[in-house]
Amino acid sequence: MSTFLFDKTIFGPIISRRLGISLGVNLLPNDSKLCSFDCIYCECGWNPERRSSPVLLPKRQEVQSQLRQKLLEMKNIGQLPDVITFAGNGEPTMHPDFEEIVEDTIQLRNELSQKSRIAVLSNATMLHKEGVVKALKRVEDNILKLDSAILETIRVINKPTGKFTIATLVGNLKKFEGNLIVQTMFLKGTIDGIPFNNATDAEVERWISLLKEIQPKSVMIYSLDRDTPAENLLAIKLEQLQEIGRRVEKETNIAVQVSG
Ligand code: SF4
Repeated sequence: MSTFLFDKTIFGPIISRRLGISLGVNLLPNDSKLCSFDCIYCECGWNPERRSSPVLLPKRQEVQSQLRQKLLEMKNIGQLPDVITFAGNGEPTMHPDFEEIVEDTIQLRNELSQKSRIAVLSNATMLHKEGVVKALKRVEDNILKLDSAILETIRVINKPTGKFTIATLVGNLKKFEGNLIVQTMFLKGTIDGIPFNNATDAEVERWISLLKEIQPKSVMIYSLDRDTPAENLLAIKLEQLQEIGRRVEKETNIAVQVSG
């Protein structure tokens, strides 16, 4: 199925079903994906098997000047974004200057677009880096992925490329002391002939028990609405997502946002 890459460092604005009018910041290469996961549903496709040229990341100064330019353009036409979102062709916190770029972005937002929130969509694999945690604590929407509480399911859905344990992930998420939003993609299907489903009762029960431990300020749950690199994937219906959302609200005090 067809997937796509963002070919710019600053992209959009786009209308996000979860975030509103979103101006995107892509700290990854403009011609390939770079991520510490290789999710079966990733809209950017699979990680490259091998690279013919060195990975080229945008420099801090380039990000700052391009973001300034775009915010000025948007300001001039009276259409500033609801949110400036770090997303793009992979995992934004893998950029070596992530902390400094977040600092620049906060300054630009404060100068040119005071009403915009800053969001980071991250897979939470770089939280062993102090600078990444410090930066994520400073943004309004610190949105971190937790697709399952079960390692085998994470291996199927997210395919971590390095060492990954649930205990380390949960320990790292607790560093935010509740100042985070958990995002979870629910889906089902068949991978290599083996069926999986992270929305079963057993999966949801284990996932809710981790939410109780992590205590995020809210949870975003959603399902597929774009092309995926893997075949044989199915979305979870909106009614079932809403049911999961009700269960979270009943069993915890955590607010839930459901997107179909
Ligand atoms: S974490 Fe995000 S960017 Fe990375 S593979 Fe998964 S969906 Fe794609």
